[in-house]
Amino acid sequence: MEKDDLKSLVTQMYENLLENIDCQDYADKEHVIAYLRDSIDALSNLKDEQITSIEHAKSAFSNAYKEIASSSISSYKDTNESFKQLSQMHKETLNTCTDDSTIDIPLITKKFNQIQSHMTDEVKKANEIISKLSSQVKQLEKESNLDSLTKTLNRRALGTYLNTICSKKYTPYELHLIMLDIDDFKIINDTYGHVAGDKILIFIANILKKTLRDGDKIFRYGGEEFVLILNRIDSEHCQKILLRILEVLEKNKLFYKGDTINVTVSMGSTILANEDSPDALLSRADKGLYRAKNEGKNTIRMELADGN
Ligand code: GH3
Ligand code: MG
Ligand code: MG
Repeated sequence: MEKDDLKSLVTQMYENLLENIDCQDYADKEHVIAYLRDSIDALSNLKDEQITSIEHAKSAFSNAYKEIASSSISSYKDTNESFKQLSQMHKETLNTCTDDSTIDIPLITKKFNQIQSHMTDEVKKANEIISKLSSQVKQLEKESNLDSLTKTLNRRALGTYLNTICSKKYTPYELHLIMLDIDDFKIINDTYGHVAGDKILIFIANILKKTLRDGDKIFRYGGEEFVLILNRIDSEHCQKILLRILEVLEKNKLFYKGDTINVTVSMGSTILANEDSPDALLSRADKGLYRAKNEGKNTIRMELADGN
């Protein structure tokens, strides 16, 4: 188990412990000891593959990629080897079928037809390998919790996370969900190209990772949209952190092929309310985002549930 996995596991245990204490009218030392004893049992029975921290997901993901890459390199080597042999055959055929005075046309045609059919077989095999590898990569991305471009959590992981938090009857602390969308991303793509657009996505994800706290979560929700989850934080502090993201983006520009690309984002934030479903929570944040876009972009709007 890696150090980061352990750290994230212990943070999770600590959060659960606080939550347990918050949930009870009365909690004493015995409760804490009993919890810690259960945690030790759980830890000693834990298998590596059960750990779902982002670091673990990342290493599992890149290891699987390494495997796919190494199998694709070895199949490439095989194909390359076959092509070398065919090219050798080609040379030998030319040498044997032609001498100084005569060219044996029927023999050359026969030999070249054989080489041609070998080549077609090899190309067919190579194409099959490529399509198998690309479907393996697609499957890997689907099964993983990680977005392959930005290395944030993906939409699948968001679904699982929201189902878990919304199934709890009561969350003993404020949980903020923020929908963040890059402003005028289509113009950025059209002006600087899709590759620059991809670099912006990575750039924003890195700024989010640096600005948010350890326990916060970053998901890539769709194309140029991210969902952030900040918990154990009041609205005032949450707002400060979100404003900090706008500030950091204002001060840090992406340099790409001699251009300086300015990028801003808009955000809609909301607080988890009792009885919220994942859809209700997301659509409230989306409403806030819609207002932020309509009211000038590069800004944050909060949308609360009725009664909050
Ligand atoms: P707004 O400020 O209203 O959000 O405008 P916008 O241009 O950002 O929004 P719009 O929905 O019109 O365009 C989003 C663009 O994001 C279009 C799409 O090509 C681009 N996009 C989506 N996913 C990716 C991606 O993975 N890479 C790149 N480079 N572009 C992407
Ligand atoms: Mg969008
Ligand atoms: Mg956008």
